[in-house]
Amino acid sequence: MSERIVVLGAGFGGLELCTTLSETLGEDAHVTLIDKSDAFVFGFSKLDIMFRGAAPDSVRMYHRDIAKPGVRALRETVTAIDPDARTVVTDAGTHEADVLVIALGADYDMDATPGLAEAGNEFYSVAGAERLAGIIPTFSRGHAVIGICGAPFKCPPAPSECALMLDDELTARGVRDACEISIVMPLGTPVPPSPETSAALEREFAARNIKLLSGRRVAALDRSRSLAVLDDNSELPFDLFLGVPKHRAPDVVISSGMTEDGYIPVDSATLATRYPGVYAVGDVATAGVPKAGVFAEGAARVVAQTIVSQLRGGQPPGRHLGRGTCYIEFGQGRIGSVDIDFLSGPTKTGTFNAPSAEQMAQKERFGSSRRARWFDA
Ligand SMILES: Cc1cc2nc3c(=O)[nH]c(=O)nc-3n(C[C@H](O)[C@H](O)[C@H](O)COP(=O)(O)OP(=O)(O)OC[C@H]3O[C@@H](n4cnc5c(N)ncnc54)[C@H](O)[C@@H]3O)c2cc1C
Repeated sequence: MSERIVVLGAGFGGLELCTTLSETLGEDAHVTLIDKSDAFVFGFSKLDIMFRGAAPDSVRMYHRDIAKPGVRALRETVTAIDPDARTVVTDAGTHEADVLVIALGADYDMDATPGLAEAGNEFYSVAGAERLAGIIPTFSRGHAVIGICGAPFKCPPAPSECALMLDDELTARGVRDACEISIVMPLGTPVPPSPETSAALEREFAARNIKLLSGRRVAALDRSRSLAVLDDNSELPFDLFLGVPKHRAPDVVISSGMTEDGYIPVDSATLATRYPGVYAVGDVATAGVPKAGVFAEGAARVVAQTIVSQLRGGQPPGRHLGRGTCYIEFGQGRIGSVDIDFLSGPTKTGTFNAPSAEQMAQKERFGSSRRARWFDA
């Protein structure tokens, strides 16, 4: 029996899902993978663009290089989703699905924070990171604010990594003493499920004179006075603003009627939505896990197992455990990590692995193994 499987979004979740289905079902997979962009980029590559001089082209993995049996990758923009009929409209036509998987990630809502687009620089998109790669070397004096405009946001450790890498950059240029660095973070600690990881980051901040304003978010930027207005109405002057915009599901997902509070609610064990035959994985869903690629991948594997077991019987699918390792740049070339487990037990846990050569090698393998697995590169 064959089913038409349509996967929307070729990011962490969509790529892992299609790869697993292709490995298991081969030419029988009948998967159509749709993405509007021409390439995939790891989130952490944005920090490499900003601070390590990585050329944007060197971190792009082109979707045209996806060559998986049973998978047809199309570059189209999804313009409408009908979850009841499992029909998707794109700028190139209509796709009907027996199984529809939505893996369209989270978008940035620049308008939610007045002044951000005009006065701030976001570093969560490739274009924003490229722009900042040109601006950071010109910043030699004053206050740099790394400001988060709303939670949840992707990869909770990333703003802390940004602060530590900025500290390195300013130190290397001999201008650190003329600069201040502050982070405004809506979370209570840098990595809430792991007190050890948070404490290690907070020790680094203290040693490097980085100020952490936790439990607060940036509500607006005032361009004429160059200051950030926080949600407690306090004001923070800045000379350089590196922003994390408020996130939400892409507009096309919101207008499909599937979202609640900005994201698609799913059964966190199975990733099933309330629409039969429709699943949502990764940042677009509320699955009880942080917004990070490792969790999108884990969710995608569960959906792949579900589809395979429906088609072929055999092994029943496992449940989504919400486990994954997030690597963290501690600056000065050091990399640590945190092993997160959100769903397998009664409490959320996060085990800290201190920076080491082994952690650095593992982060390198994390990137290269996915590049090889998804793009045969
Ligand atoms: C600075 C930074 C550092 C990060 N570091 C890490 C890290 O170290 N480890 C980690 O695990 N995660 C990290 N992340 C988070 C990670 O990048 C995301 O959580 C992950 O990409 C989510 O995967 P996804 O499949 O849900 O969505 P995405 O990977 O965002 O993929 C969504 C896809 O949908 C496509 N799309 C959207 N709308 C449409 C449309 N209308 N039509 C067609 N296609 C569309 C997009 O083009 C995109 O390719 C980081 C993120 C940032 C910003």
